Amino acid sequence: MTETNFPWKLWLYTNYDCNLRCSYCLAKSSPNAPRRALGLENVKRLVDEAVALGFSEVFFTGGEPFVLADIYEMLAYSSARIKTTVLANGMILRGARLEKLIAIKNPNLTAQISLDGDIAEVHDAYRGKGSWEKTVEGIRLLQEHGFDVALSTTETPANCERLNLICEFHRALGIPDENHFVRPLAKRGYSKTGLELNMGNVVPEITVNVDGVFWHPLSTDADMQVSKKIFPLATAVENVQRHLDAMAATGQVPQFTFK
Ligand code: SF4
Repeated sequence: MTETNFPWKLWLYTNYDCNLRCSYCLAKSSPNAPRRALGLENVKRLVDEAVALGFSEVFFTGGEPFVLADIYEMLAYSSARIKTTVLANGMILRGARLEKLIAIKNPNLTAQISLDGDIAEVHDAYRGKGSWEKTVEGIRLLQEHGFDVALSTTETPANCERLNLICEFHRALGIPDENHFVRPLAKRGYSKTGLELNMGNVVPEITVNVDGVFWHPLSTDADMQVSKKIFPLATAVENVQRHLDAMAATGQVPQFTFK
């Protein structure tokens, strides 16, 4: 296998279905979205290949990954081998799900919860009534059980004037600034406004779903696909690297980077 030029990040779209129906969802996830499961065996092989290629981190995203029965096995396998983060809306991590997650807790595993507001009104504007309260409760439950929690905030017209207040809120929860990530709204999926992103202007982060490999997790639309075959992952990485080299030869440098 080839060595990569970057400490690449690997993103895995585990399923696409979700308990929420956010009006800005880039993945068009919802309770009615068909499940597009990547599957445990693919995930294990992807983690193994990412480790062999020198990737720095693996991120799991859904839809909502915790609707999957085998997400715990995926996260345990990954975090035993590489720094691993699971992105979630925090609303369904209760009872048996929470217990199963706590059972695999380790310093290599972080839960990154989406929180768009310090008050319900601004968070719920895009994510649905009642979601803020359940999300904040989910964050507190994870913390009570000693879990490492990070937060991601999508900057929208509803919360852009309150980003300082959101920061005060996460600090009051005991979550430091380095664990809070703010991203602009992107014009993809269900979002009809926001940044227009493409392979020319966003720094790549290798992203896999059941249909292949993509340039960046912000979109798994056809124009962002770099390979229809998942394996070997090295081939997709080489495609991305070739594309970056061709851009560099014409003086084009992607300017946007997101977490
Ligand atoms: S933005 Fe996240 S929580 Fe909302 S519908 Fe999409 S995947 Fe689900």
